[in-house]
Amino acid sequence: MQTENLMYVSTRGTGWGVPASRAILEGIAPDGGLYTPAALPVLTQEDIEVLQGMSYPDRAAHILQKFLTDYAPERLKDIAAKAYASFDHPDVAPVVPLDDTTGILELFHGPTCAFKDMALQILPYLLTGAMEIQGIDEQVCILVATSGDTGKAALEGFADVENTSVIVFYPKDGVSKIQELQMVTQRGENVGVCAVYGNFDDAQTGVKAILTDGEMAEALAAKKIRLSSANSINWGRLAPQIVYYISGWLDLVKKGALQMGEAFNICVPTGNFGNILAAYFAKRMGVPVKQLICASNRNNVLTEFIETGLYDRSRPFYQTISPSMDILISSNVERLLYELSGQNGFEVRTYMKQLSSAGEYQVSSTVGKGIKEHFAAGYCDDEGTKTAIARTFAKGYLADTHTAVALSVLEDYRRKTGDETYTLVASTASPYKFAASVYEAITGKAPEDDGPQLLETLAKLTNTAVPAPLAGLDKLPVRFTETAEKEGMREYVGRRLGL
Ligand SMILES: *Cc1c(COP(=O)(O)O)cnc(C)c1O
Repeated sequence: MQTENLMYVSTRGTGWGVPASRAILEGIAPDGGLYTPAALPVLTQEDIEVLQGMSYPDRAAHILQKFLTDYAPERLKDIAAKAYASFDHPDVAPVVPLDDTTGILELFHGPTCAFKDMALQILPYLLTGAMEIQGIDEQVCILVATSGDTGKAALEGFADVENTSVIVFYPKDGVSKIQELQMVTQRGENVGVCAVYGNFDDAQTGVKAILTDGEMAEALAAKKIRLSSANSINWGRLAPQIVYYISGWLDLVKKGALQMGEAFNICVPTGNFGNILAAYFAKRMGVPVKQLICASNRNNVLTEFIETGLYDRSRPFYQTISPSMDILISSNVERLLYELSGQNGFEVRTYMKQLSSAGEYQVSSTVGKGIKEHFAAGYCDDEGTKTAIARTFAKGYLADTHTAVALSVLEDYRRKTGDETYTLVASTASPYKFAASVYEAITGKAPEDDGPQLLETLAKLTNTAVPAPLAGLDKLPVRFTETAEKEGMREYVGRRLGL
């Protein structure tokens, strides 16, 4: 039982610590930094024993309680039960064996078939819970920039949740047809969707600017509306992601794939660095992880960063067949920098200033050493991604393009290092979400039509089933068709909220 209240501090080192409910409500700290725990809780022997016998929702509540100390335990239990009831697998995030030394942690059994559901099905309840704890009688409007999966997952999570609304911006030509169709057909009275001319970083920068716009906040406050973020910079997104690494580890031990205490690796297809950061936090809490393997696509800014300590965002931006990883500014790296610099907010602020003024920063040797101690990295291009899909399918497993990037990087890593340690690979989307690329990887030719009927074709070809949430998408009415320049995003938000 936690007796102390865990506080959250900004990674940029200014301001006071705030309780979890405030960190979740605000999304981003007033100085532009990210809220991060002032101290990381550790799993005790007793925790581990208790967790072993629990269902996924109960594990989630137990682990979240260590981070969200100002939420009542019964409340968290209730929240977790509601959030994960919408998943179509009894284990919520099952581990599927691929071979003797590789397990796949399937994170796509939620209502939108991608891993963002793991956090976004629970975030609305964490937010409305936070408002209650803080005694706030207002509406909260969630702004989301998405490279595809977050948008739909946020829309699905918040649709018709009382006292909330949600607005999603996605890069016009940066998401798959299925992803776009999922978003523009979203049900719910409190949702808005707008395409932006630009890439994901443009959309994310635009959202960050609106969230820190004082004038906008004032105008909205008069209408009792506050803005918040559901991007993976929100602590309410990150905390639920720590849960599945702990849960996956416990399942591996239960199945005998690992001995209790035996070290293993985790390989994560990475974009904004949220998912792999959650694995790092799980490690810091006591999960025996040896290497965290950070897998990137051709947008390999993180590979260079982990290998050299230089973060250089001034490079060409590529659209790939793993679009949810097409990112040059991985926001959550900031939380890692904060940890590895010994919680030095001044140092982090300096790096972030350099990133925005010069487009790059080089970390200190201490931080560089810390990165190397925990992380390995690699990347692969679209050809490598397709090869990995075909090879994995031949072994009997159908992987999506993002998961395939991880599998390809893992293979390279093993070849290069000879490290044959058991590895858990995070599988972040159903292959059906990226059906055209998966089809092409398996058959060697692009499909004639990459619309929704392709799903049936893929099902027949691979002898697998179309996930229920994706079947019948083409029959839903399109509700959103608006497009904006990046400069027009603010105006869209104002209009939706009646300014
Ligand atoms: C978001 C996403 C990723 C990247 O996760 P980050 O937390 O941003 O690193 C990878 N794969 C899929 C399918 C995603 O939706």
